[in-house]
Parts: sequence; C-alpha cells; structure tokens
Amino acid sequence: MSSSTVYVETYGCQMNVSDSELILGKLADAGYSQVDSPDGADVILVNTCAIRDHAEQRVLGRLGELKRHMKPGAVVGVAGCMAQRLGPRLFDRAKHVSLVIGPDGYRALPDLIERARDGERATAVDFDLEEHYQGFSARRFEGVKAWIPVQRGCDYRCTYCIVPTTRGPERSRPLLDAVREVEQVAEQGITEVVLLGQTVNSYNDGSHDFADLLRAVGRVDGIRRVRFTSPHPNDFSERVIAAMAETPEVCEHVHLPMQSGSSRVLKRMLRRYTREQYFECADRLRAAIPGLGLTTDIIVGFPGESDEDFAETLSAVREIGFNDAYTFKFSAREGTAATRFPSADDVPDNVASERLARLIATMRAGARRANMAALGQRHEVLVEKEARRGGLLQARTRDFKTVIIPGEPSLIGSYVTVELTGTTGSTFTGTVTSERVELPLAG
Ligand code: SF4
Repeated sequence: MSSSTVYVETYGCQMNVSDSELILGKLADAGYSQVDSPDGADVILVNTCAIRDHAEQRVLGRLGELKRHMKPGAVVGVAGCMAQRLGPRLFDRAKHVSLVIGPDGYRALPDLIERARDGERATAVDFDLEEHYQGFSARRFEGVKAWIPVQRGCDYRCTYCIVPTTRGPERSRPLLDAVREVEQVAEQGITEVVLLGQTVNSYNDGSHDFADLLRAVGRVDGIRRVRFTSPHPNDFSERVIAAMAETPEVCEHVHLPMQSGSSRVLKRMLRRYTREQYFECADRLRAAIPGLGLTTDIIVGFPGESDEDFAETLSAVREIGFNDAYTFKFSAREGTAATRFPSADDVPDNVASERLARLIATMRAGARRANMAALGQRHEVLVEKEARRGGLLQARTRDFKTVIIPGEPSLIGSYVTVELTGTTGSTFTGTVTSERVELPLAG
C-alpha cells in the first residue's frame, strides 16, 4: 500500500467532476492521501476537457505551470477527454507528463502510476464498454448533493461534438447499482442527487429505462430532490415525462440543450430535431410539470449560420423564456464532422462575437423580467454553501433558482422556506420565512 500524496485538478463538465471523485476514491483505497496543492505532491493529475480548443489550450498552459511545482520524482498525469483525444501525443506536448489516461481507464490508475514512477510513459486510452466503476467509493467534493453517474458515452453524432470520440459509445449502468449508490449517499445524510449522463434520459440498462430509474431513485429513503443532466430533447418519452411528473422528489427543472433556434442549423448540427420539435418538447414538459424552470445550451457562429438563422435563435430564446443559458461561440474540433464544412461557411470571429453578445443580452433581459415577476414568491430551498459575499449563504430552489440568504453556516444542508425579496438579474436575495428548519437525516 502506498503512503503517497495526490493532487487532482479538474476541468470541464459535471461528468469530469464526478470522474475526479471516482479517481480520488480509487487512489484513497490504494493508500494515497489527497492534498490541496501540487507543491510537494507525489502525483499530480489534471482531469481534462476537450470540448473546446480554448479548454485544451488552458490545460496545456496549466501543465507548463505545474512543472514548476513538481518535486523531483513526482508523476504528472493527464486524465479525461483531452487524454483520450490526444493519447501519447500529449507526451510530446508536455515532456514532464508521464501518464495519459482516458475516461475508461481509472480502474488501472494505481498500477499505471507505479509504471510511470518506474520511468515508463504509461498510457491507457482504450474504451471499456463494461466499465461503470462498480465498487469504487467516490470521494465527494460537495457535502449537500451527490453526483451519480448512470450512463457513460454517447451514441448521438452531433457534428460539432468531440464527446463520442473521447467517451465512446453510450452504455448505462445497471439500475440496481445506481440505486445502491443513492442509498449509500442518503445514509450519509445527503438529500439531493444529480443523475449524470451525456444524454441521460436515453438511459437503458437492458431491463429498465430512465422512467424506471427516476422512480426507483425517488423511492430511496432520505432523498428529497432528484435532478439529472443533460437530457436530449428526443429522449423525453411519455414514460419519462410521466415519471418526472409523478415522482415528487424529481425537481421542477430541466436543462434542455437547444443549441440553435434555426431548423436549418439544427440539421447541419445533426441534432435530430427541428425548431418546432424542440418547442413541442418544451411544451410537453411544461404541460406535465407546473412551475418547470428551463435552462439551455446555445452555440452561435456554427458554420453556415446566417443572420436569419441567428435571428431565429434570438426569437426562440424570447419565446421559450429560459431561466438561464450556457452560451458559446462555435469552436471547431479536429476529428468532428463540422470541420468538413466548406471554409466559405465559416462565420467570421467578429460576427460570432457580436452574435454572442446579443444572445447574452437577450437572455439576460428575459431572465431579468421573469425574475422581477417572481419577487414575493415563497420557495423551499436547500442551503448549499456559504455565499461568496461574507456572512451570507447560497441556497437553491427546486426550479434551480439561486437565492442568497442571511444565516449561519450551520444551516448548510438544511431545507428552509424563503421569500424572494430582490434580484440582481441572475440570482435572487431572500429572507427566511420558515422558523422550522429541517435538518438532514444524519451526519
Ligand atoms: S448528444 Fe451531441 S452534443 Fe451531446 S454528447 Fe452526444 S454528440 Fe455531444
């Protein structure tokens, strides 16, 4: 057993955060202790994202910096999507890196670290379609909610997306295994779980679909809130929507990636739905789940996106009334189909930047109007953590509004009722109205 130290730095999406929790759990079982700084660590791991070129450049820059923190003999490893995408090529980009490990390789991590220590350039970038990391005990970063991976990989082939290349084909974790993990976190006093998958609502373990999973997770004693991310609009079957509506623990919030409001662009993106079908999906969800909050992802400047296409995105944002959106400029990724569009289709960077600014302004204006209208409402919130501003706490409504409230840190993990008293545009301030504070079950 090792008595070494490990420092892990995580980039990218929630799936990567969850993978880092698994990595740390695996290494803790192998005797490693986690440290908060790369200085003096025996192992430095950077868990990376490949979704945008910018993300990769940031990691390469960070790897250069980490070299200065390395103690002699330390192992520096790159994990995650960028490791999968570049494989051994990473050794040429950063000479001090001696370990490259893709998202399906973490079971072998302790052995690979030993091999790297022995001077080998250790690499594991094969997909393993059976790998769900059964038996791993995740080292959770957050105390009040738990990320539960239920599906890995993706079978869609959106033309801009590198994920099917870096995370492989879709596979679902057996329902019983996922529910067992939810039971374990509930026993530790965690009351909210977030089910994770690349297109999580297409979950199917061969015997159970996502509707079964939602109902089973909702039944776990002690679980008060169930969320999931990210779904695909095409996988909201009637069964899934009914399970959401009929399971009281499932929160009234869906992050529903739209990507574009133009059917022409959606077709080139190979999203497999039209503007009308996306609207219809949002309508079906809203009809079944009163008070549903919708958030989304939108890309601007996709190859061939015209002024008219972009105007359709703006009108979709206004008509649907998202609570919030992650907005991005298109970034071409080597190995994706979008790189094969003729260069004449490229949207100049200044045009994409200007569209992004207009999109953000439109989103913010809509959210501000909706948020102003919500003032005075009362909501149950879960107190998540201390707010960045001193002496205040950050809490979350079921429909995913962020509310800043006064209170003692001892309230973290509790549910209280708040009245929304102000809004800064994206977040709310609130006052606690319920004197009755329900404490978590344990811990
Ligand atoms: S659904 Fe599309 S965008 Fe999402 S991970 Fe799969 S290929 Fe990428």
